[in-house]
Amino acid sequence: MTESRKVYLDYSATTPVRDEVLKEMLPYFTEHFGNASSLYTIGLESKAAIDKAREQVANLIGASPKEIYFTGGGSESDNWVLESIANDMKSKGKGNHIITSRIEHHAVLHTCQFLEKNGYEVTYLDVEKDGTVTPEALEKAIRDDTVLISIMYINNEIGTIEPIRELAEVAHKHGILFHTDAVQAVGNTPIDVKAAGIDMLSMSSHKIYGPKGEGALYVRRGVRIPSFIHGGAQEMGKRAGTENLAGIVGFGKAAELAKQNLENHVRHCSELRDYLVQQIMEKIPDVYLNGPADMSRRHPGNANITFEYIEGESILLLLDSFGIAVSTGSACSSKSLEPSHVLSAIGVPDEMIHGTIRFTVGDFTTKEDIDYTVECLVKVVERLREISSVNSQKGWN
Ligand SMILES: *Cc1c(COP(=O)(O)O)cnc(C)c1O
Repeated sequence: MTESRKVYLDYSATTPVRDEVLKEMLPYFTEHFGNASSLYTIGLESKAAIDKAREQVANLIGASPKEIYFTGGGSESDNWVLESIANDMKSKGKGNHIITSRIEHHAVLHTCQFLEKNGYEVTYLDVEKDGTVTPEALEKAIRDDTVLISIMYINNEIGTIEPIRELAEVAHKHGILFHTDAVQAVGNTPIDVKAAGIDMLSMSSHKIYGPKGEGALYVRRGVRIPSFIHGGAQEMGKRAGTENLAGIVGFGKAAELAKQNLENHVRHCSELRDYLVQQIMEKIPDVYLNGPADMSRRHPGNANITFEYIEGESILLLLDSFGIAVSTGSACSSKSLEPSHVLSAIGVPDEMIHGTIRFTVGDFTTKEDIDYTVECLVKVVERLREISSVNSQKGWN
C-alpha cells in the first residue's frame, strides 16, 4: 500500500502511553530500581513512588489510598474479586450464588463459568435493548444464598453506562456485596465510589493512556477480601510479588492526568464520536447504531454500528488497508467468528452482528481522522455491497 495515513479508532481496546506518563516511568527502570520492600534509601524511594501512585489512583475514583491494591490489570482484578469472595462466602456457609449480566467482559464471564464448574451457581441477567441492566431485573434474581453481585460500569462493546448507584443500592438492601468492572468507565465518566456505594471496583492502566499489564482493585474499607497471590507482604499482604514499579508509577501518572483532563476528554471524544455517527448515517444507507440512542448515556468515545448486507471482518480488513484500525465486537472475540455475546444479548440478529464495527475515538483523534475514515468507509461499504449483491444474484448466498 502507498497509503501512509494512520488512524487509530480502537481506544477501547487499548490506548497509547502518554508522553508525560512515559517520562515519569523511565527513571524507575534504571536509576530508581530499588525493591520497595528494602529498608535502604533506594528501596524507600521506590516505596514512596508506589505510595504516591496509590494516592493518584485513589483520587481518580474518590477512594482512600488504603483501599487500592495494585494488580496486573483489569482481568486480574475481576478474577480476584469473583474467585476470592465466592470462595470465602462459600466456606463460611453463606451461599454460593453469584449474579452478573449477560454483557460482561470475558474476564468476568469466563471466571463465572469457571466457578460454575466448581460448585457455584451464577445468574446472568438479561439486559434492555440498549444494554441497560435494570435494578428491577437485579432485584428479582436475588436469592437467600446470593453472596456477590458483579455488574460492569460501562459496556466495552456498545458503550452503555449502567445505573451503578441504583444497582448497588439493591445489592445493599439485601446485604450483598457489589462489585463493578469499571475498566471502561474510569477516566471516561466521573466516578465516586462512596457516593455510588461500590464495594469493589476493577480498573486498568492501559485503557487510560498508561502502561499495559498494570491495574488496580478498589476494596471498600470494612470489606474483607482474601489474598489472591500468596507470597511476600506486598500490597498489604493481599497480592504478593515484587511490585511492577515503573508500571505502577505510570498508572499513577495516567490516573492523575485522567482526573485533570476528564471534562475536556469527555467533550473532545463525544464531539468527534457524534460527528462520526452523524456522517456515517448521512452518507451510508442501511446502517444502525447499537446501544443507547441517548448519547449522554454512552461511553463518550463509543460508536457501535451495523452495516447491513456485509461482513464486519471484510470492512475491518479493507479499512486496515487504508491505515484505519477499528474492531468488530470486542478485541477478545475478533479472532473468532462467534457472534458477539453483547450484541446477541440486546437482540441483534446473527447476520447483523456479523456486519458490525466498533469505532472508539480518544484524546489523539482529530476531525481530519474522522473525515478520512468516513471517506474510506463510503468506498469500502459500497464495494463490499456490490460484491455481496452480485454473489446473491448468482445464488452464492
Ligand atoms: C479491557 C477490559 C478488561 C481487561 O483489562 P486488562 O487490563 O486488559 O486485563 C476488563 N474489562 C473490561 C470492560 C475491559 O474493557
